[in-house]
Amino acid sequence: MSDCIFCKIVSGDIPGDIVYQDDDVLAFRDLSPQAPVHFLVIPKKHISTINDLQPTDAELIGKLYLAAKQVANQQGMAESGYRCVMNCNDDGGQTVHHIHLHVLGKRQMTWPPG
Ligand code: AMP
Repeated sequence: MSDCIFCKIVSGDIPGDIVYQDDDVLAFRDLSPQAPVHFLVIPKKHISTINDLQPTDAELIGKLYLAAKQVANQQGMAESGYRCVMNCNDDGGQTVHHIHLHVLGKRQMTWPPG
């Protein structure tokens, strides 16, 4: 998608503070961190929202979590813990319409979220 900011990070058209990538997945630090560690894990392929997921995306979604686990471990928060959140549309708080897993850690999270 030519007007998608996360597709532009995938293509290198705009910079990202990349912490992990492979053929299918990219992870980069959030521009406006909500925790001492806050990065986003995205599929390189454009998918707008959770509502657009297809059964053929099942393995790709699993890869997002495997990347999250790997980077969380690299960041030293595997044992202390972290939160993974994917927002969907307005009520879910989604502002960028390219699915992304927020991974937040190095502070105590509260529940329920605001
Ligand atoms: P959401 O509200 O769930 O759609 O989350 C979008 C997230 O993307 C927010 O936490 C933003 O801070 C983050 N964000 C937006 N633009 C960039 C960017 N260029 N690089 C890194 N993070 C970004």
